[in-house]
Amino acid sequence: KRDGRGTFRFFGAEMDLQVQTRNRLAHDLRLALSREELRLVYQPFIDARTGAVTGCEALIRWQHAEKGLISPADFIPLAEATGLIVPMGDWVLDQACQEAVQWPDSRRVAVNISPVQFRDHDLPERILAILLRTGLPPSRLEIEVTESLLVEEVSAALDILRRIRALGVRIALDDFGTGYSSLGYLRIFPFDKLKIDKSFISDIAERSDCQIIVQAVRDIAHGLHMTVTAEGVETADQAALLQEIGCDEFQGFLFSRPRTRPDLRAWDRWQRAA
Ligand code: C2E
Ligand code: MG
Ligand code: MG
Ligand code: MG
Repeated sequence: KRDGRGTFRFFGAEMDLQVQTRNRLAHDLRLALSREELRLVYQPFIDARTGAVTGCEALIRWQHAEKGLISPADFIPLAEATGLIVPMGDWVLDQACQEAVQWPDSRRVAVNISPVQFRDHDLPERILAILLRTGLPPSRLEIEVTESLLVEEVSAALDILRRIRALGVRIALDDFGTGYSSLGYLRIFPFDKLKIDKSFISDIAERSDCQIIVQAVRDIAHGLHMTVTAEGVETADQAALLQEIGCDEFQGFLFSRPRTRPDLRAWDRWQRAA
């Protein structure tokens, strides 16, 4: 399929091995949920003006019994292809809300939602059920979606996004500026927040073109009443520049790598780093 329609390939031994490896991993992933091999780590958001830690993004990790830690980049695509992302995504939402309800000062939690989860039109109702069960106020939940969501079946996706928003949940557009970027999406859906992809941030101190792009994104976002988060902030130079440009929020290794459940000491440490 990758080579286009109407072409064919003979099935080779190495493809057989790839398929076997993949099937094995899919099998393990199916069991990972019940074996409690999945967990969430959290990375703080920093308010760029006040330096306050305002919440965290929840990021999934898979601690495989033999293979060790597997990164989401290596198993989310498999979870999407097999449909496992649906129960897994519910688990992530549930865990993240359970965790965040205990956080001090009404801090928010952000959860990544795959486009595949949007194929189920009951997603807003499932989110509501999780909010009610965990007791997390909707305003403290933020969901992160990527532009790929808006490429297929736009009207269905928009309908679901609007119903989620109507619950009082905030919606962020993740990895902005990569892949399928189209400014048209910003007209058809009013996101609460734009997260500028880390590829623009990593070069911002050295490259004026990145600065110009980030400034332009800031203007568009603020003009459309969205906030701007810079992801992948790794150096103090980058943070200073982004603050000058007027980004609203930072996230990145400069402040913290993703960590297991934040206790009071972690919030304190993060606050001091910020
Ligand atoms: P994302 O949502 O854009 O998450 C940000 C990624 O950037 C995370 O990678 C984070 O660890 C990494 N990061 C944060 N700060 C820095 C930095 O300063 N420098 C660099 N180089 N990287 C930084 P991670 O945790 O490996 O997640 C990768 C992607 O996997 C996420 O990108 C997201 O698209 C997906 N993902 C993670 N957890 C979930 C989940 O629960 N559900 C779904 N559907 N996708 C998830
Ligand atoms: Mg994200
Ligand atoms: Mg991102
Ligand atoms: Mg990403």
